[in-house]
Amino acid sequence: MADKDDPRPCARCGYVNDKSHVYCIKCGAPLLNKCADEPGRIHKGCSFVNPPDAAFCAKCGFPTIFNREGIVVPHPAAAPPISWPIQIN
Ligand SMILES: [Zn+2]
Ligand SMILES: [Zn+2]
Repeated sequence: MADKDDPRPCARCGYVNDKSHVYCIKCGAPLLNKCADEPGRIHKGCSFVNPPDAAFCAKCGFPTIFNREGIVVPHPAAAPPISWPIQIN
């Protein structure tokens, strides 16, 4: 799990933002994968911060902000398989 003090790479453009940034300063994408169930005037909301590969909130099952923006980071296990044999030059 990434440390809270780590720089935040943007899931959309890859720019590495400062740890204090909440939105990417290059493209405006959110850097924290919050639950999209945001608090409203009456509605309490959730706003749980999920890992960057979460398409749905771990706490309430609502789609995450990254899901809504289409920038969910694929899980490493879902990466395309490496083709063998690997060519070493
Ligand atoms: Zn960006
Ligand atoms: Zn939630």
